[in-house]
Amino acid sequence: MPPIRGYATKGPTSKLEPFAFERREPGPHDVLIEILYCGICHSDIHQARDEWGGAIFPMVPGHEIVGRVTRVGSKVTRFTIGEPAGVGCFVDSCRVCGSCKEGLEQYCEGPIVFTYNSTEKDGKTPTYGGYSSHIVVDENYTLKISPNLPPANVAPLLCAGITMYSPLRHFKAGPGRRVGVVGLGGLGHMAVKLAAAMGAEVTVFSTSPSKEPDARRLGAHEFVMTKDPQSLAALANRFDLILDAVSAPHDLNAYLNLLRRDGALALVGVSPKPLEVNAFSLILKRRTLAGSLIGGTRETQEMLDYCAAQNITSDVEVIPIQQVEAAYARTIKGDVRYRFVIDMKTL
Ligand code: NAP
Ligand code: ZN
Ligand code: ZN
Repeated sequence: MPPIRGYATKGPTSKLEPFAFERREPGPHDVLIEILYCGICHSDIHQARDEWGGAIFPMVPGHEIVGRVTRVGSKVTRFTIGEPAGVGCFVDSCRVCGSCKEGLEQYCEGPIVFTYNSTEKDGKTPTYGGYSSHIVVDENYTLKISPNLPPANVAPLLCAGITMYSPLRHFKAGPGRRVGVVGLGGLGHMAVKLAAAMGAEVTVFSTSPSKEPDARRLGAHEFVMTKDPQSLAALANRFDLILDAVSAPHDLNAYLNLLRRDGALALVGVSPKPLEVNAFSLILKRRTLAGSLIGGTRETQEMLDYCAAQNITSDVEVIPIQQVEAAYARTIKGDVRYRFVIDMKTL
């Protein structure tokens, strides 16, 4: 394999810059994918800046990958050369634990191999993500992408889309159910589109008043400005499900109190600092505080097929890779409409 071109950061305070590295020669079960687009997830920023701890540098972030297959291993059956293909947050898992057997590889008991900032199953070879020209992935961890959807807008489905689809299905969003979405960013805007398509009544909770028209266009029925505590108090005991996609510390109790009896708040956002829970916020109404991590390959494919059938994709701002640092800065400010996607031709 010729050297792969990408962008990497050397440490938590370094900038992303051009980086050449090796990938394995495709094996019998692997596909080689030429990357066309890669979304910028807030998790890329958390990890590039080592906000969760344990980061591996140099790091090539990126786990919202859409491209086209340019080579297939001798035993590959699901892909042919030229076909579109997608890669999400993980590229392998143990394949034998209960979670893997149930198609819930994201909860693998280990070793799971994340797309970047992780090591291959040998425990030492670092993985490098989608801010790069090509990736080699086992076909069983590669997703089928509809050729009918614009690839730049599909890329964010591979993380933002599945991260919201999975808890919406698990907690049974649908007609007659009130769903709240906290934080209208990359994840949040996918939650609004998906929950509305599933028939739920959707309320967006946001710190950004300028996002109200967009929230309604995306399918939200209500928009609540969270900087005004009165507006939250008035909605107590109303919601069946709240998906919390906020990337920073915030008051969870204010949202738990909006759940009706037996309602659930599923955290998907990963605040780098712990969040406090007041016991009364849960026990007075038998509420559930849950968490949810991306989705397995089976459910990710189901989500991609659902989005293709419903014509759902992400609202994106496509950027050249040279603007990745500026895109990070805007994402941190909540100024993203609603996902930055890197055009890999510009690499
Ligand atoms: P994003 O595009 O930056 O969106 C986050 C949104 O949260 C912002 O647009 C903003 O929305 C709101 N927000 C930001 N700072 C806030 C603050 N201090 N207080 C209140 N609200 C704030 O990020 P993303 O890519 O959607 O990711 C969101 C979080 O989910 C990140 O922590 C990411 O690591 C995590 N994540 C988790 C999973 C999983 O599997 N669980 C998968 C992917 C990402 P408003 O302007 O509307 O307030
Ligand atoms: Zn992500
Ligand atoms: Zn496993």
